[in-house]
Amino acid sequence: ASPTDLRTASDALAVLGRVFGYDAFRGFQQDVIDHVVAGGDALVLMPTGGGKSLCYQIPALVRDGVAVVVSPLIALMQDQVDALTAVGVRAGFLNSTQTLDARRRVEAAFVAGELDLLYLAPEALGVRSTLALLDRGRISLFAIDEAHCVSQWGHDFRPDYLALSMLHERWPQVPRIALTATATSATRTEIATRLKLDDARHFVASFDRPNIQYRIVPKREPRKQLLTLLRDEHPGDAGIVYCLSRASVDKTAEFLTANGVAALPYHAGLDAGTRARNQQRFLREDGLVMVATIAFGMGIDKPDVRFVAHLDLPKSVEGYYQETGRAGRDGLPSTAWLAYGLQDVVQQRKMIETSDGDLAHRRNLAAHLDAMLALCETVRCRRVQLLEYFGETTTAACGNCDTCLTPPESWDGTVAAQKLLSAVFRLDRERNQRFGAGHCIDILLGKQNDKISQYGHDSLTVFGIGSELSEAEWRGVVRQLLAEGLLAVEGDYGTLALTEASADVLARRRTVTMRREPEKPASSRSSKP
Ligand code: ADP
Ligand code: ZN
Repeated sequence: ASPTDLRTASDALAVLGRVFGYDAFRGFQQDVIDHVVAGGDALVLMPTGGGKSLCYQIPALVRDGVAVVVSPLIALMQDQVDALTAVGVRAGFLNSTQTLDARRRVEAAFVAGELDLLYLAPEALGVRSTLALLDRGRISLFAIDEAHCVSQWGHDFRPDYLALSMLHERWPQVPRIALTATATSATRTEIATRLKLDDARHFVASFDRPNIQYRIVPKREPRKQLLTLLRDEHPGDAGIVYCLSRASVDKTAEFLTANGVAALPYHAGLDAGTRARNQQRFLREDGLVMVATIAFGMGIDKPDVRFVAHLDLPKSVEGYYQETGRAGRDGLPSTAWLAYGLQDVVQQRKMIETSDGDLAHRRNLAAHLDAMLALCETVRCRRVQLLEYFGETTTAACGNCDTCLTPPESWDGTVAAQKLLSAVFRLDRERNQRFGAGHCIDILLGKQNDKISQYGHDSLTVFGIGSELSEAEWRGVVRQLLAEGLLAVEGDYGTLALTEASADVLARRRTVTMRREPEKPASSRSSKP
């Protein structure tokens, strides 16, 4: 289709077919498009892969003028523009990476009205010359992509997004559409407030991704567990492995490569060239595994990512959902796999304790972590719990998550909890010493080792009272107590400490139901003397 044809094709459905080659809209795409074409503001929440782009690209083609798309994904702008150009849409971008020459050409095209879409980095709108440029052209609409970047609680926060509220003041007659794959109502409210989208209609899609199988397993030897998953279920598949630290990214990528899996690292410590190269290879080649920190992934449109694996606990359900959502955009069966252990809880609680920011900020971080921990420890359907978190009440268990496929047993862990809390209480008298979970468990198991004899802990009344459980099971007990706030960690050494709620358990005012550790509980039990 030539540009002039597009101008006259006021029918959105015709544009969908003629330009993009699709025959029907998905979900509420048509409603959003009609609303924006008619000049209304919109806030669109749709899961990754749901088809947000068309919600502003088609209005951009139908309405007069140039659509200005604000996107933080500078590294992907060239790809986005190329993809549009390939189907005959006139698109350009302005960002800090291009040559002055290229910039001048795009600016001239904008002013002459020879573009359908202009992509801008948010920081560009803070520059007076860009605003002057925009004043010289005719703007059909503003699209604010990845709108959750305006949320100060999220890990994608971009200060430049806060300034976008001025779009409405400066160009009050131009419709705005904000889009995000972040689903919580708190984020939605924050986006609407901060972007001054007071009269915007909200379009909220279901966030269920039925083709993704959610699985959360106890962390034992994470890299080996990952390798088993890749070999048994995803040989030769493309996927993303998320790690918390850069060092862990590098080590994991090396480990996979040494074991015959084609893997590449990605984190902010690599130079820009390497990062760009690895990202391009991941997008263009088949069957590569990207090992990355959460710096990787936003806006990555690779339909055939067959698995997303987390070797460390995400900080929030929002983060977990977004990262796992990068799997299976093509709708085919995919795996979201997370290995989670005691150390994750200890580490994240410590990070919150020592984080910058005021008490309210730390409380907010803790609340987000608690929701993530609850998802890990649940005995219910993971999907039901995940969707409930995003305000969707679905009643039926999904049949496609680990708790549905192999229902975890729960057991009355009250006595075990009392034993462990008693041990923590005894050790607490030696406040100046540093005893983490491992030492506590050794005492309960009645182990004779140097540290125990050095401190005379074999004479404690709790010594050896926990031999009915294996070490792995005790670690599960500690982890679940930490997750429920019945136990705390303090200081640099992860020293266990009681909380106010611990007293209820010790005084038998409260029972504790625990999830049985699913992997190899039998063998770890039988290996005991
Ligand atoms: P999002 O930005 O919401 O993650 P995209 O806009 O990138 O999703 O769309 C995801 C994929 O679905 C893309 O490959 C897109 O071309 C395709 N798509 C979107 N809408 C439709 C539709 N109505 N019919 C067929 N394919 C569609
Ligand atoms: Zn389920």
